[in-house]
Amino acid sequence: MRELLSKERLESGVAAMAQQVSQCYGDRPLTILGVLTGSIVLLADLIRMLEMPLRVGVVQASSYRGQTTRGRLTINSDLMPDVHGRDVLLVDDIFDTGHTINEVMAKVRQLGPTSIRCAVLLRKTGRQEIDLDPDFVAFDIPDEFVVGYGLDYRDAYRNLSFVAALEPDDLEEDPA
Ligand code: 5GP
Ligand code: MG
Repeated sequence: MRELLSKERLESGVAAMAQQVSQCYGDRPLTILGVLTGSIVLLADLIRMLEMPLRVGVVQASSYRGQTTRGRLTINSDLMPDVHGRDVLLVDDIFDTGHTINEVMAKVRQLGPTSIRCAVLLRKTGRQEIDLDPDFVAFDIPDEFVVGYGLDYRDAYRNLSFVAALEPDDLEEDPA
């Protein structure tokens, strides 16, 4: 694999995004919803950089099976806190085609939040299939399959402190 974003760059990129989020909401109470499982590392870092009254919850969305094939998206909101009348910020690892964020946002919108925005660590260039732009993006990256800082390949590599692009050889091997 090849390192794309070092631990240091990730830290400053997430800090810059946290600053934008703070500017957007000010002192207003915020409900942050992390999209499982890829957002967990970003979620942990981002929430500790925010100072407004904060509630944190999670929602599960799974679509990717294996490396790059799209499966049907399933959304499980059982673990989600009440979002009615709240300002909600959805947090996810990567904005690729945009389908995942779009569908999770639609689901949350049905529950009557005051507002809903989304923040992602990464946005892949030239992959967008949905007319929706994330409100907050830490990094734009080229169209490569990446792992680390929460992102997995077959459930491995989420614990890397950097983001790396997998090479074709890496994708053939079973990391587990
Ligand atoms: P979208 O619905 O925007 O096409 O895809 C978003 C989801 O696909 C992400 O939440 C992530 O789980 C997965 N995904 C898309 N691109 C990558 C990638 O390069 N690496 C990894 N590990 N997951 C990706
Ligand atoms: Mg994901």
